[in-house]
Amino acid sequence: MLLQFIQGLYIVAGVLFILSLAGLSKQTTARTGNIAGMVGMVLALGATITHSLYLSAEDPENRQSVVVTLLLIVVVLAIGAAIGTPIARKVEMTQMPELIAAFHSFVGMAAVLVGFNSYIAPEGQAGAVHIVEVALGVLIGAYTFTGSVVAYLKLSAKMKSAPLVLPGRNMLNLGGFAAFVALMIWLIALPHDQIGFGVALVAVMAVIGFLLGWHMVAAIGGGDMPVVVSMLNSYSGWAAAAAGFMLGNSLLIITGSLVGSSGAILSYIMCRAMNRSFISVILGGFGAEGGTVASGDHDYGEHREVDVDTAADLLVNAKSVIITPGYGMAVAKAQYPVAELTSKLRAHGVQVRFGVHPVAGRLPGHMNVLLAEAKVPYDIVLEMDEINDDFDETDVVLVIGANDTVNPAAMEDPTSPIAGMPVLEVWKAKQVIVFKRSMATGYAGVQNPLFFRENTAMLFGDAKTQVEAINAALPVGVS
Ligand code: NDP
Repeated sequence: MLLQFIQGLYIVAGVLFILSLAGLSKQTTARTGNIAGMVGMVLALGATITHSLYLSAEDPENRQSVVVTLLLIVVVLAIGAAIGTPIARKVEMTQMPELIAAFHSFVGMAAVLVGFNSYIAPEGQAGAVHIVEVALGVLIGAYTFTGSVVAYLKLSAKMKSAPLVLPGRNMLNLGGFAAFVALMIWLIALPHDQIGFGVALVAVMAVIGFLLGWHMVAAIGGGDMPVVVSMLNSYSGWAAAAAGFMLGNSLLIITGSLVGSSGAILSYIMCRAMNRSFISVILGGFGAEGGTVASGDHDYGEHREVDVDTAADLLVNAKSVIITPGYGMAVAKAQYPVAELTSKLRAHGVQVRFGVHPVAGRLPGHMNVLLAEAKVPYDIVLEMDEINDDFDETDVVLVIGANDTVNPAAMEDPTSPIAGMPVLEVWKAKQVIVFKRSMATGYAGVQNPLFFRENTAMLFGDAKTQVEAINAALPVGVS
C-alpha cells in the first residue's frame, strides 16, 4: 500500500516537472512553472526519503538501519542546505551561468558514485544490461563532472576562454571512447567473483570520462560557451537518468530524461541561432579569449563619440527606437534606468522596442529575465527574428553593453571567427548609439566594425551611469 502511494507521488512529481518546463517556456507563466517545479521537488524528496526508510525497516537483520538511514538523510540534507542556501542568496544574475555549470558537476559526480555503488551492491555484477547501465552512467557522469568544472572555470574567468588545441585531439577523443567500449566488454565478460578487479575497471572508465570531459570542453572556445552550458545541462540529465536506471528509480529516469532532452533541444536551438553545427561545437576549437582590445592588422578607421545631451536630444526627436541589450547591461545593472528611459520615451509618444539576441548575455534568456525584473512590458521585448527586418525603418538604436550579437562581421566577413552567426542588424538604422566603457572586444574576442560606421557613435562609460545621465538630461516635458 505504502509502496503504491510512493509510486503515485513519483508520477505526480513527474507531471509537475513537465508542467514546470511548459510554464518556464514563457515569461508570463514562468513564475507558475517555478512553483510547479518546487512542489514537484518537495514531493519527490518526501517520497524518496519515505521509500528509503521503508526499505530500511524491511531489513530484518538490521533494525537499527531506519535510524541510521534517517540520520544519514538529515546530515546530507543539512550539508546541502548549508552550502546551497548562502550561494543562492548571494549569487548575482551575471554569475548564474557559472553557478549552473558548477551545479551540473555535482550531478555528474553523483552519477559516478551511484555507478560504483550499484556495481559493488549484491547482484550488482549480474546481467550485461546492468553492467552497461553502470558503465554508461559512470562515463557520462565523469564527463559531465570535469566538463562542468572547466565550463565553470572558463565562465568565471578563472581559466582562459581560448580553446585548448592539442595535436590530434579528435583522435585522442576517439581513442578514449574506443578504450571505454573495450573496458565495458571486458567488465561484462568478467567472472562474478572478481569484484575487486571489476571495481578497478570501473575506476579506469571513470578516469577516461574525467579526461574526455576536461579535454572536450577545454577545446571549446569563448563564443560557443552558451551551447556548452546547455549541452552540459543535457548531459547532467542523462547522467541522472542513468543513475535512475541503476537504482531502479522511475522518477529519476523521468526527470533525467526531461532535463536531458530539454537541454538537447535548447542546444539545437542555440546552434541554429549561431549558425553552427552541433557536432562542430562539441568537437570544439572555436572562439578566442574575450575582453581584450582587438589588435589585428585591419584598419577600421576612426570611431565617433556622442555626449549625453546629444543622445537625449536624438531620442526625444525619434519616432522609433530599438534597444538591443547585451552582457554589459547585466554587468552594469543598467536594466532599471533603461526601463525608466523606456517608459519616459513611450509616454512622450516614441515607439520603443527591445531586440533580444538568443545568446545575448551569458545565459539563454539572460536579457529577458533582467528586463522582466525591471518591469519592462513583455509585448515590447522581441526576439531577433521578430525585429531584424525593422531596423531600416528605425531612427535610433541603443546598443547597451552588447558587442558580438550586433557585429556585422558575422554576416560580411567570411574569415571572422563568428562568420555565419545571425546577428541583430542594428547598423541599418539611421543612428546607432553604442554604450560601453572602451573599444574592447566582447566575449568572442573579435573586433566590431559597427563601432567605426558613419551612423554609429560611441557613448563611453558605465552603461548604468550613462543611461541615468540621459534620463536626467531629457527635456522637462519628457521626464
Ligand atoms: P559581449 O560579451 O559580446 O559584449 C559585452 C560588452 O559589454 C563588452 O564589449 C563590454 O565592453 C561591455 N560592457 C561590459 N561591462 C560594461 C559596463 N559596466 N557598462 C557598459 N558596457 C559594458 O556581449 P553580447 O551580449 O553582445 O554577446 C554575448 C556573447 O557571450 C556572445 O559571444 C555569446 O556567444 C557569449 N556567451 C553567451 C552565453 C549565453 O548563453 N547567452 C553564455 C556564454 C557566452 P567594455 O569592456 O568596453 O565595456
